[in-house]
Parts: sequence; structure tokens; C-alpha cells
Amino acid sequence: MANKQLRTASDGEQQMADGSPPTIHPQVFQQTVNQAEMAISITDVHGNILYVNAAFSRVTGYASDEAIGKNQSMLATEAMPRELYQSLWQTISHGEPWSGRLVNRRKDGSKYLAELSISPVVNATGEILNYLGMHRDITEVHRLEYQVRNQKALIESVVDAAPVVIALLDIDDRVVLDNHEYKKLQADLGMAEPAPMLMSAVRASLELEAGRGRGRRNLGYLFLDREVRLDPPGGRSPRWFSCSGSRVREDDGAGDALLTGQGRDYLLLVAKEVTSLRAQQEKVRVAALQVLMADEDRVSTLRESLSAATFRIEGPLNMIASVVGMLSRRKGETDPMSVALADAVSAGQQALEDLRSMIPGDTREKIGPVNVNELLRDVFDLSTTRLLAAGITVNWKPQAMLPALQGAPNKLRSLFKALIDNSIEAMNTRGCRERELTVASSARLGGIEILIADTGPGIQSAHHLKVFEPFHTTKRGGGHLGTGLSSAQQVAAEHGGFIEIEPLMTRGCRARVLLPLHRPA
Ligand code: FAD
Repeated sequence: MANKQLRTASDGEQQMADGSPPTIHPQVFQQTVNQAEMAISITDVHGNILYVNAAFSRVTGYASDEAIGKNQSMLATEAMPRELYQSLWQTISHGEPWSGRLVNRRKDGSKYLAELSISPVVNATGEILNYLGMHRDITEVHRLEYQVRNQKALIESVVDAAPVVIALLDIDDRVVLDNHEYKKLQADLGMAEPAPMLMSAVRASLELEAGRGRGRRNLGYLFLDREVRLDPPGGRSPRWFSCSGSRVREDDGAGDALLTGQGRDYLLLVAKEVTSLRAQQEKVRVAALQVLMADEDRVSTLRESLSAATFRIEGPLNMIASVVGMLSRRKGETDPMSVALADAVSAGQQALEDLRSMIPGDTREKIGPVNVNELLRDVFDLSTTRLLAAGITVNWKPQAMLPALQGAPNKLRSLFKALIDNSIEAMNTRGCRERELTVASSARLGGIEILIADTGPGIQSAHHLKVFEPFHTTKRGGGHLGTGLSSAQQVAAEHGGFIEIEPLMTRGCRARVLLPLHRPA
């Protein structure tokens, strides 16, 4: 230090002129330690106090002259186990620092909780000369910690006891907190996190209702009692939940957040299962649907029969008309036979026109958001009796969450029913031993793909396109007009989609329906 020049020598900071690290005057150390907020004591190797600072006197009630010369054990209470002190001494006497919490007794006998750390002070050879003790009174902090912990435990037990599913989701739909019912739902559905699935269903229904675009974050939404449907994997029965969501904000505990006021947003999702209520409503709805579909079936059969009749009469009538043409060219237009035949043809055409005007028109149906899984389930419900009677097993593989499609629900239902009816009929024949109907739905190519496969005799490749022509039928025997698939194809086309019979099937028949989410204008 002798050959180094001091640039300043004020009471605080001293800095070397050559730029080397500043040194601090011992007096500054003493003042710093004495004025420190922590209670500081320096002891000899037996714990006898040699020095205490002002904070030590404030916390313990012992003035400096009262403490010096006494042992640190003057602060000990019988509340602490002896092993703790033993381990404290074990540690520090081996030259290691120790820290922990102790109950201390003040001079006036009152107790407080001290957070204490003790460091051995060693000389150049490593010999322990003194111990440096630093502690602070954390009684109040501890009380508050306990209060928070108790409140947390109380809130958790209330949330766990609630008979509804509760999950707190972060901005990316990750579950950060959940309750007992949520865990039960996880186990029931056999999936890691059902909450994002519930949220997708809620969002889909909110977006469709508000006509908003996709891709919005959940935190913008607050919703109440929104009923959504989950189709559990493995074709199990659907489950219904009434969901409510509210926004929860957490202030960030990080230091810089105190200045910026930043925090985190969460969504509190509360879902109440309403499956049994919905199941009853569904029964009533399916019964009503059955009546409606039967009516529609009757009208459509009438439409098909009249169309078939006009189609069949039209052919011979046209032939007679051309014969009349030939006859009148040969024998002249005034030839009584030609005139009589021409009158008969025009009367026939008039009758045909009258017949055409009697064909019931296509009912206009309201277009709206439809859930294809729901429509397919409706068709299963409507076909249950036939499926059971034919001994057909249904293998239902829906995509759990399908985006909603803009469409005409009754027409789409009829489309699926026509395909499923065909499959049932194909399998319900003698010699068809394996009878399995597989129906799968999935979101694909900006639309929804539905596969309906059966284990029946299949359709010969030559007929794959023809089956969609009106009045084409591969079914033997009367009673089949062959308009089911052509009507179904027409419905698919009205929705901007199509139906195809998959060409490479080695066994059975598989129809693939592709419907875009939005109908063409
Ligand atoms: P003591 O007889 O003092 O000690 C209990 C056990 O500790 C003994 O059985 C023995 O195994 C071991 N022990 C005690 N002294 C030594 C030693 N010199 N060498 C090896 N082992 C030893 N205690 C508090 O309760 N509150 C404090 O705030 C606190 N601050 C301390 C600060 C410093 C810097 C140091 C060095 C010690 C501090 N202690 C403190 C510990 C204190 O010295 C006593 O050990 C403790 O208070 C228990 O006192 P006691 O009378 O019950 O038992």
C-alpha cells in the first residue's frame, strides 16, 4: 500500500490514482456493520459475544455492554431441540457456515423467530478465530407466510370439494391449477388434459355465434353456461358440459414487474357436467327427428316414384312422337292417322307435365353451423333398430373435436342415412357373416371427411361412378328406384363437397364424403 497514491481520502470511498480497486477505511467497515439492518454479533470460538451492532440491541433488547462477555446461548429457548444446536455447532466448528431458523428469547423474556446465519472467521492457516452471526426477526413474515399457506390450503380444499370441474389455464391453454373433479374427468376420459378440448369446443361455438374469425386467444372471451359436447375417444357416449369462463389476473412477483406493473392473465374454466340432462333431451329430440325423417322419407319416396314414372313414360312418348313425325312427313300433315296420333302425343305430353308439376318440391332448409359428429350420432340413433336386427356392430371413430360446418342439418342427415342404410342393406344378406359398420370423421383439407365402410359384398369397380346416376341400382328385386345415392351426391354438391366410392377396397365398400366447412355462395 505504501507506494500507491491515494487520490481521495474522504471518510467514505477511497480510490487509487493508478486505477487499482479502491480500499475502504476500517472505520467505514465498523460504521457500516454498526448501522446495518441485520442484527450482527461477533463471538469467540465458544460463542462468547465480543461485539454486537445496534440492530442486535434493537432486536434482542440487550444493550451492547450487557451483551458483550455473555454467551450467545442467552438467546436460547427451551422450545428448540438440543440436536439443532448440536448440529449448528458441528457445522460451524468444522469451518462451514450454518443457517436456519431459531426461536430466540429477548431480554424481556418475549420470544421471536430469528432467521440466523453463522459464518466462521478463519486466519490464513484456516484456523477458526471467531464466528460472525447475523439474524433478523422474521416473526411477522412467518405469521404472514402461515396465513397465506393456510388460506391456500383452505381455498384448495374448497375448490377440491366443489362438485364441478375447475381448471385455471394460462394464455396457451396449459392447465396451471385444477381440482379433484378435473382429475376425475382426466381419468374418465383417459386423456392428459381435457381442458384445452373443452376450450376448443367453447371457442368454436362462440366464434360461430359471433361470426368471428378463428385464431383468437381465449382471454378475450368471458362466457357463461355455454353447453359443449365432448366425444371421448374410443367411440364412447358423448358427454355434455356447461362451461363458464372468467379472466383472472396475477400480479408478477418479479422485481422489475413492480416497476412495469406487469402481470399474467389466466382463464378460470368451470365446467359442470350436464350429460344426463342432455341425454333425456336427446331422447325427446331423436324421437321428434324420427317422425320428421319418416315424413321426409315419405315425401322423398313420392318424389322419387313420380320422377321415375315421368322418366319412364318420357322415353316411349318421345319414340311415338318421332314415329308421328315420320308418318306425317310420309303421308302428309293432314293424314287422319297422323293427326290422331299427334293429338295423342300432345295429350300424353300434357299429362306428363301435369305429373311433373305434382312432384313435391325440395324443402328449403335453414343453413347454420352443424356438428357432423352429432348428425352421425343422430343417424345411428335413428338406425339402431335396423342395426340390431341385422346383427351389425358399429365401430364409431369420431375426431373428438370437429370444427363446425355451415350446412343444412336435415339434408346432411339424410345423406349419411342413405349411405348407412345402403351399408346395412348390403350386409343384411345371406352369406354375409362378418357384419361391421365403421364410421369415422376427421377434419381434413379445410373441410370434414367422413368415411363409411361396411363388410358387405362391395360394389364392382365398373359401378363405382354409375351408382350415383339417378335410377341406377345394383340391387336385385323390385322396390328400388336407385335414387338414394344420386340424391345424397346432390346434397354433397350443394354443400360444395362430394361422395366417392373408394376404388381400392378389396373387401366390402367404403364411401368417402368430403364436405368443406363453408358452402359455396
Ligand atoms: P449450549 O450448552 O450453549 O449448547 C448446546 C450444544 O451445542 C451443546 O450440547 C454442544 O454440543 C454444542 N456447543 C455449544 N457450544 C459449543 C462450542 N463452543 N463448541 C462446540 N459445540 C458447542 N443460539 C440461539 O439460540 N440464538 C442465537 O441467536 C444464536 N446465535 C449464535 C451466534 C453465533 C455467532 C454463535 C457462534 C452461536 C449462536 N447461538 C445462538 C448458539 C449458542 O451459542 C448456543 O449453542 C445455543 O443458544 C444453545 O444454548 P444452550 O444453553 O441451550 O446450550
